[in-house]
Amino acid sequence: MTKLTSLTIKEALDGLKKKEFTATELTEAHIKASEAAQHLNCYITETYDHARAQAKESDARYAKGEAKLLDGVPIAMKDLYCTEGIRTTAGSKILENFKPPYESTVSGNMFSDGAIMLGKANLDEFAMGSSNTTSAYGNVINPWQRKGDNKPLVPGGSSGGSAAAVAARIAMGATGTDTGGSIRQPAAFCGITGIKPTYGRCSRFGIIAFASSLDQAGPFARTVEDCALLLQSMAGYDPKDSTSVNRPVPEYFKSIGQSVKGLKVGVPKEYRVDGANPEITKLWDKGVDMMKAAGAEIVDVSLPHTKYALQTYYVIAPAECSSNLARYDGVRFGLRIDGKDLNDTYEATREAGFGKEVKRRILIGTYVLSAGYYDAYYNKARRVRKLIWQDFINAYEKCDVLLTPTAPTPAFAIGENEQDPVTMYLNDIFTVPASMAGMPGISLPVGLSADGLPLGLQLLGRPFDEETVFKAAGALEKAADFTHLPQSLQAKAA
Ligand code: GLN
Repeated sequence: MTKLTSLTIKEALDGLKKKEFTATELTEAHIKASEAAQHLNCYITETYDHARAQAKESDARYAKGEAKLLDGVPIAMKDLYCTEGIRTTAGSKILENFKPPYESTVSGNMFSDGAIMLGKANLDEFAMGSSNTTSAYGNVINPWQRKGDNKPLVPGGSSGGSAAAVAARIAMGATGTDTGGSIRQPAAFCGITGIKPTYGRCSRFGIIAFASSLDQAGPFARTVEDCALLLQSMAGYDPKDSTSVNRPVPEYFKSIGQSVKGLKVGVPKEYRVDGANPEITKLWDKGVDMMKAAGAEIVDVSLPHTKYALQTYYVIAPAECSSNLARYDGVRFGLRIDGKDLNDTYEATREAGFGKEVKRRILIGTYVLSAGYYDAYYNKARRVRKLIWQDFINAYEKCDVLLTPTAPTPAFAIGENEQDPVTMYLNDIFTVPASMAGMPGISLPVGLSADGLPLGLQLLGRPFDEETVFKAAGALEKAADFTHLPQSLQAKAA
């Protein structure tokens, strides 16, 4: 039998149904693999006993023939999702001992569908970052390494623990959140697949807020089909989130394998940035050829406001973060450092509880929302955001999906890009525009860099048209046939 940890979710579900193995065996195999991969630091909190109990319940459902959509599938849960009674830190010291009294809607949906939680995955503090180096619980290490160089690489961020866990085969799938790229960029850095659905597709209830008008939940897995299965469970209307949208959730997996003959794939010229990494440009061209060979029609499109997306994002996201994070005051929950009076208590708590990047964002956000600068920055950014959205709407008159690179570089080493925050922010250059417009986007691995690192391409779609995104991604996945493994797993496979 193939190693249980190398199965896809689809294969695992088939094996469970045929009683080739049990959910308990599948879970134990993943716990064992997780224990052997502790150096990657994928989990902030391991929940193995909880997983064992869930696996037992899952086996009972299989025995009765009552298995659900994800029954018995071991996953990692980004530690931004509140899990009832289980520590939820958001990667921050300020929530070090926070045990939510309620469950997030999305994690609840997945548990109702039989998913098993192995642990709470590490992340950048409050999901702010592109490298998983801002977590108060240490860096996550990418299971991939450059050829002939054992420098530890970042897994991308902010959902770095989730992506690294799936790539390292210690979880079959994982949840992430994407505010400006935090599902797509780590998926690209770790050689796996991740989709950010349309804003409003998944409930945000119980997901610790970073920037509420941008935050969106989505899954990671090793295939497009597995992502489709996970998203089907995660998505849906929730009256507890006023921005969640009341539309039926399609059976996304049915889109995979459908022909892309005649599908119009747009190639936006503004994504050909000056000084781009030639390997990324080459990969992009290869992706275009693959789609063409699969029967798609390639069209050139323009998204003229792309050049303002990053700047606008770094006004809006910090503005919303400064407001959302005001609740961490040491009074209601989380860390509390007593000072001489109330103000002093707030200050001491926030000084000790927040890391450098979070403080930087709060400062920027407070500044752009201040009375004197509100119009100049925040309101202006909101207007530009509308133009960015309009660009996409115009482009989708000419095409059905857009194909672009996911990230401007492959995974970089821990410590690189830290010289100034703007270098780090530039990582989001290709992912942020779709976030600003609330459009769905998937990243999947399409090739390797010269030094052996995975490179991803991104397919973006119309609002609530995840089905077409999955269809196109299925075709690209088939053409790319990415079967490479991180070096540590190659050694084991040999
Ligand atoms: N890297 C981006 C940021 O730091 C995006 C983060 C995210 O999507 N959560 O804000």
